[in-house]
Amino acid sequence: MENKRYYGIDIGGTTVKVGLFEGEKLLDKWSVPTVTADGGRQIIPDIAASLRGPAAGAALAVPGAVLPDGTVNRCVNLGWGVCRPTDEFTALTGIPCKVLNDANAAALGEQRLGGGKGFESVLFVALGTGVGAGVVLDGRLRVGARGTAGELGHLCWDPADTTAQCTCGHIGCLEQYCSATGIVRLASQAGVTGMICKQVMDAAAAGDKRLEAVVDKACDILGWGIASACAIVDPEAVVLGGGVALAGEYLRLKVQDAFEKYAFHACLGTEIHLATLGSDAGMIGTALYAMD
Ligand SMILES: [Zn+2]
Repeated sequence: MENKRYYGIDIGGTTVKVGLFEGEKLLDKWSVPTVTADGGRQIIPDIAASLRGPAAGAALAVPGAVLPDGTVNRCVNLGWGVCRPTDEFTALTGIPCKVLNDANAAALGEQRLGGGKGFESVLFVALGTGVGAGVVLDGRLRVGARGTAGELGHLCWDPADTTAQCTCGHIGCLEQYCSATGIVRLASQAGVTGMICKQVMDAAAAGDKRLEAVVDKACDILGWGIASACAIVDPEAVVLGGGVALAGEYLRLKVQDAFEKYAFHACLGTEIHLATLGSDAGMIGTALYAMD
């Protein structure tokens, strides 16, 4: 009988999430610690040793840039430079393997089975430590010529804001205002220190005016970024995921308001939804990518 099983493998900085799927059905899932010592060279062998039987295919999601030919162009959190982890994976397991960026994987998962279900064209925005994104157009994940399609985290909001030094080397990137790290940074600029992002969001939602102004600023900039991306990509829907989006409707409504303030008039029908797959989105999307 033909093997219809696929592995979806989401490699994070501390944990690797592995799912074994048959079609869209999750049969089993488990995790493997990510050993980043020694340039992360144990990561793929550790994953291979954890697998539960043969499969028709697999895909890896990684926290870094992936070129269309499958070359990974640095994953700082894993200790990887330029490498081809799929070649090593297939050599160890005999299973054909693809690789994609983790936010792109989550985008595909949310479009097919999560907050973007029912839409063929979705812009997914992951609001975590940084701001990741992915673009699905006409049902297909689009990664672009260099694997960076949809990277709205590095749209430049304010090139003169020298307090907003981005990890990419530029100043004033959207990520420096709208990520969990960015929101905490804005809170400390407003005189509130020692809070994690969730505490800032909760206090703002509970009526703290100073922190609500912080959240409003972050949502305003995010709405601008989404409106800018929509003018180019024109998705049917935008899906907000990542830890910051756990603030739910409180966040979504503010982003929707800001989006409508900045959007090109013809884009105003774009729906903004919340992600529904949580931290499994990447693993699920990775498996779907393996099946494509
Ligand atoms: Zn940047």
